[in-house]
Amino acid sequence: MQGVYVRGRFLNLYLNYISTRWGPLGYNSCLKEAGLQKYGKIEDGVEYPVSAFCEIIAWLSREKGEDHVLNAGKQVALFYGQKNQEKDIKKALQRTAYAISECFRHAHISVHIEENGVKLYVGNINFRSECCASWIGVLKGIAEQTGHDGTVSEIECQTKNGKFCCFALNW
Ligand SMILES: [Zn+2]
Repeated sequence: MQGVYVRGRFLNLYLNYISTRWGPLGYNSCLKEAGLQKYGKIEDGVEYPVSAFCEIIAWLSREKGEDHVLNAGKQVALFYGQKNQEKDIKKALQRTAYAISECFRHAHISVHIEENGVKLYVGNINFRSECCASWIGVLKGIAEQTGHDGTVSEIECQTKNGKFCCFALNW
């Protein structure tokens, strides 16, 4: 399979979440235990193997709990939401998904808009099941910012033989 890459910019959103809450100690133990020390400082403009993303999320899930994976996903949504200032939920979803997709290479991120909901497809990124909760967080974050009380569920998962991870958000 072709290598999948993620930009440091996206990794740093999660690493910032970690250092904001658990300081340099948390940040350094994440880098060490996720096997990322070999890269030195994670640079925004540099591409890393997608496993770097998976290992950061797996560390967060294992050390701090799944709620923090969800919450970090919400923070990621907030970061993009503040940039695009979009109040229409459908447009906000499309813009954020597009912005995130630009952080990946040889991966797939797309949004399918429906009447009262949306499906987010994520392919070739979630190589560990812990990753999936981060996308649930992203969708919940976008729903909250645009004034919706959305429910999100993962209806297909690539770590469980699905073709993609597919997340359904309904409002
Ligand atoms: Zn999944």
